Amino acid sequence: MSSREKTGPVEFKIHPIAAMYPGCTPEEKEAMKISIRQNGLIHAATLWEDDNGRTFLIDGLNRARIVAELLQEGIEVADNGSVIEMRYVTFEGRKLSEVIQFIESNNMARRTLSASQRAAIGVRAYQKYIKALADENNVAASEVNTGEQGEVGMRIAARTSTNRQYVYQCIRINESKFGTDLMDQIIAGKLKINNALKVLGRREQGLPDEEEAKDPTDTPVQAQPTKTYDGLKNEVHPDHKAIFAVREKIAEILKLVKKVQAETTAICEKAGGRNINLDALNTDLKNITANLRTHQPHSPCPNCAGAGKTVDKKKCPTCTGSCFLDMAQWKLLTPEVRAPYEKKASAPPEGE
Ligand SMILES: [Zn+2]
Repeated sequence: MSSREKTGPVEFKIHPIAAMYPGCTPEEKEAMKISIRQNGLIHAATLWEDDNGRTFLIDGLNRARIVAELLQEGIEVADNGSVIEMRYVTFEGRKLSEVIQFIESNNMARRTLSASQRAAIGVRAYQKYIKALADENNVAASEVNTGEQGEVGMRIAARTSTNRQYVYQCIRINESKFGTDLMDQIIAGKLKINNALKVLGRREQGLPDEEEAKDPTDTPVQAQPTKTYDGLKNEVHPDHKAIFAVREKIAEILKLVKKVQAETTAICEKAGGRNINLDALNTDLKNITANLRTHQPHSPCPNCAGAGKTVDKKKCPTCTGSCFLDMAQWKLLTPEVRAPYEKKASAPPEGE
């Protein structure tokens, strides 16, 4: 960054990437205002001039607003005697991809952003970052080499200090044609990812965002679409109904196995059943039961949010493209990854 510093009023536009990030909270703003009033402006805001000679503000919007407010209130000198005025430095990088990185790292240092907000902003910023790199290097977005390790979800999670599961959930919301305003609301801190996913699911089924309030005086028997649940008692997404319907079939088979056991035990007690090896038979039946229970779909794959593939269209390494995990696979995940799914419906959403 350069020392080319400007002071006073400067003509600029707020850069659209910087505008993606939520403004500071009223508390943050109040604290910043008190600090500037006491000490003057310590950190200059940052401007960037693009190749077309347009000047953009890429950092320090909140500071610029507060200084303008103080000046409007007639406060021109801080308590420590320094003059209150806006100062700007100019970002030296020419490339948009560098500007995006700069804006992201400044904003991710803010402690008040929740994990949901970080993940959602991270997904959007990464998309723009890849596009900028592709344009700068004259290659397709799929050819861009960022020099980062790991698959996309891991990279975004690392850049934004959040978890991969949130990142993949945000990717799913971001890629849906119903998801744009939901992403906006997550970024603004008005909606949690879990709730956004619920709304998205309803929209994809053609339902209103909110469940309609039930009128107790009017309860006609309606043909409700039957719900399908996974092994964690979570309702499954309509896309995955066919997969998890297998659980119902297996539940029927397990009843049949019990029936086989009861009836063969009864036969063994009869004169003609004496040569049947009941212990061996019971062991076999136990194996059948364990096999079905362990390998039936237990949960949608949290690594790819049940998509079966990663954002770069590669087969998801966790579920190898099947979209679900069985109980054996599920138990291999870390407790941290499992926890949000193992929560009961009555538990408070998303501890952050
Ligand atoms: Zn997967």
